[in-house]
Amino acid sequence: MKAVVFEKFGQAPTIQTVPDPKPAADGVVIKVEATGLCRSDWHGWMGHDDGITLPHVPGHELAGVVVAAGKQVSRWKAGDRVTVPFAVGCGRCFECNSGNHQVCEHQTQPGFTGWGSFAEYVGIEHADTNLVRLPDAMEYATAASLGCRFVTSFRAVVDQGRVTPGEWVAVHGCGGVGLSAIMIASAMGANVIAIDIADDKLEFAKKIGAVATINASTTPNVVKAVKQITNGGAHMSMDALGHPTTSFNSIANLRRRGRHVQVGLMLGEHARPQVPMDKVIAFELEILGSHGMQAYRYSAMMEMIRTGKLKPELLVGKKISLEEAPAALMAMGGFEGIGIGVVTKFQ
Ligand SMILES: [Zn+2]
Ligand SMILES: [Zn+2]
Repeated sequence: MKAVVFEKFGQAPTIQTVPDPKPAADGVVIKVEATGLCRSDWHGWMGHDDGITLPHVPGHELAGVVVAAGKQVSRWKAGDRVTVPFAVGCGRCFECNSGNHQVCEHQTQPGFTGWGSFAEYVGIEHADTNLVRLPDAMEYATAASLGCRFVTSFRAVVDQGRVTPGEWVAVHGCGGVGLSAIMIASAMGANVIAIDIADDKLEFAKKIGAVATINASTTPNVVKAVKQITNGGAHMSMDALGHPTTSFNSIANLRRRGRHVQVGLMLGEHARPQVPMDKVIAFELEILGSHGMQAYRYSAMMEMIRTGKLKPELLVGKKISLEEAPAALMAMGGFEGIGIGVVTKFQ
């Protein structure tokens, strides 16, 4: 099969012909029909993720068709249209048994712990626990765009952030994660403030539900601005970018008893940011993480998509070919355009 391979961290990936994957006893092989481009792939390529063994094939936001299933797989067969969460649970550990596959102790991650979906085929383990069936009407590109940013935002807003109608939600950063969160939180009936440094992203945020926007490059004090708009602070706030400044602001702009959810990755020199711990105590703030979403929780999100309350297809950006993927991957460290780039052509 053809795949995007990198031999060294930070060195340009190339398209190579490599052996096709074979299904594990409890796994499947999926013919990849669409795979999203994500900043995490860029982090992996740069060497920021210590789970990667070289040579490596990146890609973790995938949708496609099952072409082969191992002997132990009972729920899936060739021809099934599927996607999978980026954190693949083992289905057997304490966390999986308690329903928290997204933090499985033995989790695998396609494109990180093993070869991923920037390829014609990808192998996924523990298929019965992790595969998600696609609604017939859903396009592969839309399904791939759910895999990481949209589901993480769904869990961040709904399960971790526990947003309720009428609450104020501040979303710091309007990339793929942030825009997903804005759409989901407004569908939940919250009043959402979008914060970014790019006016075009803020305009787009308004189109998908934000009721107020703050341009952080021209606003001297973002925390003060959020507190003014919300009459005292956000109930729930999210750092969707993953930067010490946005993380700090997201905690500092909360009202009493507010919830901060960290979704943007904090790696390398950003891994230990400053936290206004004085406020955390005095205001009884909650600081939460969100790491993907369990396969069984997709159904709530899929129903909201089916009924048109959520429109993830609006967040799909450029569609490119596998040949164009290496350059696009290397560019992910820079400024992102609007929407999630997806590889949809593999030949
Ligand atoms: Zn597990
Ligand atoms: Zn991702």
